[in-house]
Amino acid sequence: MALTGIEIFKLLAKTNCKECGYPTCLAFAMALASGKAELDACPYVSDEVREKLAEASAPPIRPVKIAMKEGVKTIGGETVMFRHEKTFFNPTIIAGLVTTAMADAQVDQQLANFSKLVYERVGLTLRPEMMAVRDADGDAAKFAALAKKVADKTDAAILLCSEKPDAVKAAADAVKDRKPILGVATPANADAMGALAKELGLPLVAKAEGYDALADLTTKLTGMGLKDLIIDSGSRALKQAFQDQVVLRRAALVPKFRPFGFSTLTCPAEMTDDPMKEKLYAAVFIAKYGGIVVLNDLSADGIFPLLLERLNIYTDPQKPMIITPGIYEVGNPTPDSPVAVTTNFALTYFIVSGEIEGSKIPTWLIIQDTEGLSVMTAWAAGKFSGDSVAHFVKKCGITDKAKTRTIIIPGYAAGISGDLEEELPDWKVLIGPREASHIPAFLKSL
Ligand code: SF4
Repeated sequence: MALTGIEIFKLLAKTNCKECGYPTCLAFAMALASGKAELDACPYVSDEVREKLAEASAPPIRPVKIAMKEGVKTIGGETVMFRHEKTFFNPTIIAGLVTTAMADAQVDQQLANFSKLVYERVGLTLRPEMMAVRDADGDAAKFAALAKKVADKTDAAILLCSEKPDAVKAAADAVKDRKPILGVATPANADAMGALAKELGLPLVAKAEGYDALADLTTKLTGMGLKDLIIDSGSRALKQAFQDQVVLRRAALVPKFRPFGFSTLTCPAEMTDDPMKEKLYAAVFIAKYGGIVVLNDLSADGIFPLLLERLNIYTDPQKPMIITPGIYEVGNPTPDSPVAVTTNFALTYFIVSGEIEGSKIPTWLIIQDTEGLSVMTAWAAGKFSGDSVAHFVKKCGITDKAKTRTIIIPGYAAGISGDLEEELPDWKVLIGPREASHIPAFLKSL
C-alpha cells in the first residue's frame, strides 16, 4: 500500500534544509505522497529508506518499457483518470496481428502493410509500433518461425501470444535480441509462464476473466518477483471490455489497488471481423485506457485516423499543439513558386499543407508564431496582424528563397491585407480562400 505523507515524513531527515525545493521536510513528504515530487530531489535519503519510499512514490500504474528494433516505447505510468486533470503521458501502442493460422502470403502482406504505415506530420512520426504474433495451434516450431519472420521483416516491438509455455519459450528464444513481450499467463499456466518471464527478464501479459481472478493472478505473479506486467481482462465484448478499462484504471488510481496497477492489453482483433467496427473499438480503447490495442486490419484508411486520435489524446491539454515557426517547403518549391502564410496552430498547418500538397503546386508555406492560435482567433487577438505578418516576412528569410513578391494570406484574415500592403510595399497581397478545401482550386487559378 502507498504510504501517507506523515508516514513518509517520519522516514525523512527532518532537517528542513530546503535543498529539495520545498520549505520543510513535511511539505516535501506531502508532495511526494501526492505524486507531485520526485524522491531524488532529497539527497539525504538512505538506500534502505529509498527502497521503501520508491515503492510509495511509484506511479500507481507501473510504466513498462517496450523494445522496438530501434528505440523504446513506454506504456503505463499514467496518474489521472481524465487528461484535463493533468495529461496522459504514454500513448497507446497500436499493434497489428499475425497468426500461425494465416497463409504465408497473408502474413507477408500484413507485414508489408505494417511497414508502410509511417507518416510524418507536424514534425512527428506517426505509426503503429508493434506486431502481435498469435499461436493458433500450439505448434512451437511454427510459432517460433513466425515470430522470427516478424523480427526479420519489421522493426516492430513483438508481442508473443500463446498459452503454451514451451511455444512461448521457443518463440522468445528465436527473437531474443528483440526483447519481446511474453504472453499469455493465465491462472492455469501462471507458474510456468511466470518462471519463464522471470528467467528471461521480459514483460509478461497476465490474462484472467473477472476482477477477482485477475487480481489473484497479478498478485501471484508479483509474488514471484515479476514487476513488468500488462493485464488483459479477457473481455471480448465491447461493453464489458470498455467497463473493464474504466474499472481497472479507477481501481489503480483512486484506492491505489496495486494488483490492478498495470497497463492493459485490449484486442479489437478478437472482438469483430468487421474492419470498420474494429477501428471504432480501437478508437474507444485509445481514448480510455488501453495500453496496447491489437488490430487485424492494417489498411491505411483505418489506421491513420487512429494515429491522429492518439496524437490528440496524448498531448498536454494545457498547451496548444503548435509547430515551429519558419519556412516550410511543400512539394519542392522553386524561387518562382507562390508564397503563402498562416498561423502555427498545428491543425491549421496540418490542413493547409495537406491541401497544398494535394494541389500538386509546390509552394513556400511560411508559418508565423501565433502561440498556437488558429487564424480567426489569432487575428481577433491581434497576433496575426498586418504588422506582425510583415515583420515575420522580413525576418524569416523567405526573400532569399523566393523571387516572387506575391503573398497569399488566409481568407479569414482578409482584414489585414491593407496594413500588410503598407508594411510590405514591394509585395502584392492576395487573399486566399476561407476554406482550406478551396486552396487547390485557388492555387491552380493563379
Ligand atoms: Fe527535508 Fe530532504 Fe527536503 Fe532537506 S532536502 S528539506 S532533508 S526533504
